[in-house]
Amino acid sequence: MTKAIALLSGGLDSILAVRLILDQGIEVEAVNFASVFGTFASNSGSRMEAKVAAERLGVELTVFNYSKDLMELIRQPRYGYGKNMNPCIDCRVFTFKKAREYMRQRGASFLITGEVLGERPMSQRRDSMRIIERDSGSDGLLLRPLSAKLLPPTVAEEEGLVDREKLLSIQGRSRKPQIALARELGIDYYPSPAGGCLLTDPGFARRMRDLMEHDPNFTLNDVRLLKVGRHFRLSNTAKAIVGRNEKENKKLDSLAVEGDLIFKVLGFTGPLTLVRGNLKDHLSELPASITAWYGKAKNEIEVDVSYIEHPTGKTGVARVSPLERERLKGLMI
Ligand code: SF4
Repeated sequence: MTKAIALLSGGLDSILAVRLILDQGIEVEAVNFASVFGTFASNSGSRMEAKVAAERLGVELTVFNYSKDLMELIRQPRYGYGKNMNPCIDCRVFTFKKAREYMRQRGASFLITGEVLGERPMSQRRDSMRIIERDSGSDGLLLRPLSAKLLPPTVAEEEGLVDREKLLSIQGRSRKPQIALARELGIDYYPSPAGGCLLTDPGFARRMRDLMEHDPNFTLNDVRLLKVGRHFRLSNTAKAIVGRNEKENKKLDSLAVEGDLIFKVLGFTGPLTLVRGNLKDHLSELPASITAWYGKAKNEIEVDVSYIEHPTGKTGVARVSPLERERLKGLMI
């Protein structure tokens, strides 16, 4: 039996692509690439959407976590960034290459994706789709069932493994044709298009850029930190992150690494602030005043803010006034 490997994000396009190929009597196995930059509800780092979709489609799913690889790609993407910090072409070349290797391992004949010609500005233009195919070594192997009739035939079509006539010619940004097709095929288990990749989010991209500028040797933990709380640049070598709720406070605490300081106002409820980097003499007053501003002590003239170093447990207390709002705004990343 002919077998194909599908790149399954769990979004509507990839669900439809799999379904079109399954309906041709072809066996499909799915792969999903999950990373720290995903905004999806996460369970062990993989996308729930892909799991749900695979279950409903009745296909086997293998999840690859490529956070570290994507982190490397962001440093200097060969094909640059999209609108924000998203190196989409490099990212796809990487994942398609991995999928192609997996295809060989599993004895499959070709790859399928839910890509739609012209749907995304950077990675789904005709020229970039061609680059992705070439650089990932997937020439002739990459079938895009939703737009196939607008693209040159792939090997699977030429060899008659897939009936090209039953493939589609969808293009452009409107999702209407896909929604109509989903209705026709009785598919109602697709998520809203809101989720996705944090690298395309302007706020996250700003923090990412700040991190790369100030700490070129950033780690996965540094990236995880970007997803939590409010961020402030204290100096070229230090930044502060303030938790926005109890859950974030706990998250910050769990992400603390050697040398980090945790600030907390004494005698008042309020957030926890994590400081990473080198705090020069007396600079502890700055994160202490930021912490004071965000808690119940905001209107006090002066408060005591304690700090503790991770993991040594060394402590200190700074007596400070809550920071003025204007100064706070100026420090926000
Ligand atoms: S949006 Fe993010 S995950 Fe998707 S291709 Fe671009 S960089 Fe990769």
